[in-house]
Amino acid sequence: MDAIITLEPVFKEKIWGGRKLETEFGYTIPAGPVGECWAISAHPNGDCTITSGDYAGKTLSWLWAHHRELFRGAEGEVFPLLVKIIDAADDLSIQVHPDDAYAAEHENGSLGKKECWYVLDADEGATIVVGQRARDRAEFAAMVEEGRWGELLNEIPIHAGDFFQIDPGTVHAIKAGTVVLESQQSSDVTYRVYDYDRRQDDGTLRPLHMAQALDVIDFDAAPIATGELPPAEGPVQVLEANDCYTVARIKVDGSLTVPTPHPFTCVSVTRGSGELNGVPVGRGSHLLALAACDQLELTGDMELVISYL
Ligand code: ZN
Repeated sequence: MDAIITLEPVFKEKIWGGRKLETEFGYTIPAGPVGECWAISAHPNGDCTITSGDYAGKTLSWLWAHHRELFRGAEGEVFPLLVKIIDAADDLSIQVHPDDAYAAEHENGSLGKKECWYVLDADEGATIVVGQRARDRAEFAAMVEEGRWGELLNEIPIHAGDFFQIDPGTVHAIKAGTVVLESQQSSDVTYRVYDYDRRQDDGTLRPLHMAQALDVIDFDAAPIATGELPPAEGPVQVLEANDCYTVARIKVDGSLTVPTPHPFTCVSVTRGSGELNGVPVGRGSHLLALAACDQLELTGDMELVISYL
């Protein structure tokens, strides 16, 4: 069994998607607006097939279910993380996600959704919505009813290299002209607050979930002003560490060894090219390092984002 495996991504057509997953990342994608590449996922809505090693042809969920020893016996019914690239040619809905407790009770035992975004690309003048300004449910509901979006939503500029941690209960929207690498809990539960009244190809509106959104919005969270990262103190910069995941950015210029003493490590190459443990990789490569992989040996000129428990 190889200590590092590769996976076949799952692509998702989305009303707001574009073509950059093909034109900028070189993936072979279906026709139409494609919004998401589920690059490392064992979620039933997009379960990646393994493409290397002894278990080629099996899915990641199968590997997690049948060979937990490869993940050093990590606990949990489902493989806990999901790594995506999101190409937003148009605005995503204004949305919010539940935490584990709410999702377990109201969404058939699903995980909640803590997520974070590392911005790979942003058009000049692009913005993002992170947070809101209503003080309670009643005020939020009234501002939505009256369409006071500019007052309600905390919309801030974004640039390539920014990073945003989105806790459950945080109202948010990725906006047009943005490509992000999303690292998240393995969950597909989204409560839409507003979808700009846009219609799908069949003329219907996508459903909204205002009641659930009001249940889960955290009205005490203070809106943030920027996603700018503090200056890195070394080649490995931890972007976020919480009870669900740690996400770090790695800059390689020459050669670098990064210890990975984790049950597993999700690895995505976000810029440049080089080699990872002797395997050629480039922008858009995603690999899953299993417990048997105790370090990443990196050479080249590239940037990576890794996530682990
Ligand atoms: Zn979201």
